[in-house]
Amino acid sequence: MSRAPMSRVPISKEQDILKMPPPKRPPRVTSRRIGIHTSSAGGMQNAAERAWRLGCNTLQIFSSSPRQWAPYELSLPQCAEMSRLRKKYDLKPLVIHTNYLVNLASTTPLFLKKSIEAFRGEVERALNLCAEYLVLHPGSFRGLDREAGLMQTAAAIAAATQGLDLAKQNLTILIENTAGAEFSLGSSFEQVAEVLDRLNGLVPVAACIDTCHTHVAGYDIVSEIGMQETLKDLDATIGLKNVRLFHCNDAKGARGSRLDRHQHIGRGTIGLEPFRRLLNDPRLAHAAFIAETPIDEPGDDKRNVEALKNLVKR
Ligand SMILES: [Zn+2]
Ligand SMILES: [Zn+2]
Repeated sequence: MSRAPMSRVPISKEQDILKMPPPKRPPRVTSRRIGIHTSSAGGMQNAAERAWRLGCNTLQIFSSSPRQWAPYELSLPQCAEMSRLRKKYDLKPLVIHTNYLVNLASTTPLFLKKSIEAFRGEVERALNLCAEYLVLHPGSFRGLDREAGLMQTAAAIAAATQGLDLAKQNLTILIENTAGAEFSLGSSFEQVAEVLDRLNGLVPVAACIDTCHTHVAGYDIVSEIGMQETLKDLDATIGLKNVRLFHCNDAKGARGSRLDRHQHIGRGTIGLEPFRRLLNDPRLAHAAFIAETPIDEPGDDKRNVEALKNLVKR
């Protein structure tokens, strides 16, 4: 399994932007959809208020505890309040990140069954919350070969979504590329494309590309030429139009290290320029850009959102 995208310390009261006075003026937004993974402490609808105060116009949340099977409590009034706040603040898209325990490539029948049930719960909650995207890591193939692992993940997604009409509610499952730790599926664009190809026409699917994972999996996104080559590769496999979300994370590890440790924007081994190139590439204007950066100091979340927004040219 991939590691948590962030070393998230529990938010203390002093740190929680909800406990501070609201901004006097609406925060500045850019021509790009920029956001950050946001805490839903106190109820999922609170994430929308927090995201707006952080200066976001899109957001990502968990709808279950990332390392436990139990889903968060989700009532109809909460869902309605989430929709109301999103409309009020123009927060779009709403992205839900699947719990890290789910492994749809598991070879243990009991664990696979549990994963499929949990993933179905993720899809149902995403539908209830009117989310546009549900992000999923393709899983870990220990005990299978990679090819069989990818096939099983695709089959498990199809099984988990049976009878649910995602297209009708405009929900798309996004397969995320991974850092390439041992047995993890999805560290190359080809592997992500393979899962998408198998599900095409069955379930609405597209891709989420994580900059940290791409870099530590060995792709060059740091040099200008390298970034152009990597985007060419991405277009030839997944297709740029199918990349609906970029997880914008700087990296602690070197290129090719497979070390999945996220760093603040501009302060890691990727640096600012690659983010500037992605954010201003007209071929990617349809995508959302969401940080999953650590919170080491109070205010780091707001600073990382600002750092991304400052790179957008117009
Ligand atoms: Zn990661
Ligand atoms: Zn990610």
